[in-house]
Amino acid sequence: MLDVLIVGGGPVGLFLGCLLAKRGLSFRVLERRGSPGQHSRAIGIHPPALEAFREVGLTEPLLAEGLPITRGMVMGENGPLGELGFGTASAEFPFILSLPQRDTEAVLRRRLAGLAPGAFCAGVDVLKLREVADCIHVTACENGRPLELRARYVIGADGWRSRVRKALGLSFPGHLYPDKYLMGDFPDTTPLGQTALVSLTGDGVVESFPLPGQGRRWVVHTGEQLWGNSSAQELTAMIEERTGLHVPAAECRMLSAFEVRRHRAPRMVCGRAVLIGDAAHVVSPIGGQGMNLGWLDAAALAPLLQGSLEGRRVDWPRFERRRLRSAAIATRQAELNMAAGRPAGARAQRWRERLIEKVLLSPTAEPLLAKAFTMRWL
Ligand SMILES: Cc1cc2nc3c(=O)[nH]c(=O)nc-3n(C[C@H](O)[C@H](O)[C@H](O)COP(=O)(O)OP(=O)(O)OC[C@H]3O[C@@H](n4cnc5c(N)ncnc54)[C@H](O)[C@@H]3O)c2cc1C
Repeated sequence: MLDVLIVGGGPVGLFLGCLLAKRGLSFRVLERRGSPGQHSRAIGIHPPALEAFREVGLTEPLLAEGLPITRGMVMGENGPLGELGFGTASAEFPFILSLPQRDTEAVLRRRLAGLAPGAFCAGVDVLKLREVADCIHVTACENGRPLELRARYVIGADGWRSRVRKALGLSFPGHLYPDKYLMGDFPDTTPLGQTALVSLTGDGVVESFPLPGQGRRWVVHTGEQLWGNSSAQELTAMIEERTGLHVPAAECRMLSAFEVRRHRAPRMVCGRAVLIGDAAHVVSPIGGQGMNLGWLDAAALAPLLQGSLEGRRVDWPRFERRRLRSAAIATRQAELNMAAGRPAGARAQRWRERLIEKVLLSPTAEPLLAKAFTMRWL
């Protein structure tokens, strides 16, 4: 009988594992994939997550591999509209740390292996849950062989298609947005250094973020069309047409078209099962918040699990209320980011540029915006 079974060894499940290991609980992280995924989705690690990582010794290894993004520059069709520094957002981490998700997950896996050798179980697909008296029985499949496990708590950190959520019979209301994007990683040939760029053009936004290893990620809004089979040349042509910046298509390191959605489970706690991360809430990645939101779920959950296992009374409804509220704020913020970057006619574009220029020039707005973009409200 284990204290906790974590279903899903993505960034959120791995961090929760590190937190439980530090607290001396018995647990396993069950991960369906036999080997790590190579696709890089998230790149932004925000100050609240870096603060939470301190407890398990993850902050330093992540800082050693990542690249701090210290400011963002906003461009209009005819030049700069303003800049936003992240310096006021956190005394200790006055930046957003850029690191591709696969590298972040590798750091998390190494740390978990150091804290709790053998706790990470790859190639284990969780199929069913059954709550019996004071524990949950889990049926899984390990490399084709059936596996039965028992734990006091089961945590669903198994992503937006969560089987744990489905086993609990919870709905996942939400929808797909009309917006589609194309992104790619390239060598950084711009003079922007550690500055992120947001180009608001009438054809749709172009965003670019520095990556470690002299790289840069480019994301373009492609209207309502998903450019599923597109080439790096098509992406770089759109970037050049909208921003005038040349990106070397032949040196593309990653290319991916994606669509965006929002979903939120009505509950995160169901008896002895708790949902966290994308299994509980999905926010549009425009603004880079989903993974960070999940990490903060894990940071809030770990002491409650420990308290409950030690026989203390735990205020589960408060946990659920606060975390779902954070997800709602992140969703709203991502929607504002997306709305600001949609294609616009000439008049709407002029109006949008004037508004953004005014906001960025206002001395009172800068600290508030810096706080919002670094998730200090969580
Ligand atoms: C293009 C893009 C860019 C993004 N950029 C950012 C960003 O900059 N910042 C940010 O914070 N977020 C960003 N996000 C969101 C971020 O990628 C997700 O929020 C994050 O991956 C969620 O982590 P998770 O651990 O909850 O779920 P996942 O990463 O989905 O991990 C779930 C894990 O569970 C495993 N699993 C699933 N089912 C089972 C099962 N039955 N048994 C065992 N294991 C199972 C899966 O194999 C997977 O490894 C971005 C997303 C996209 C698409």
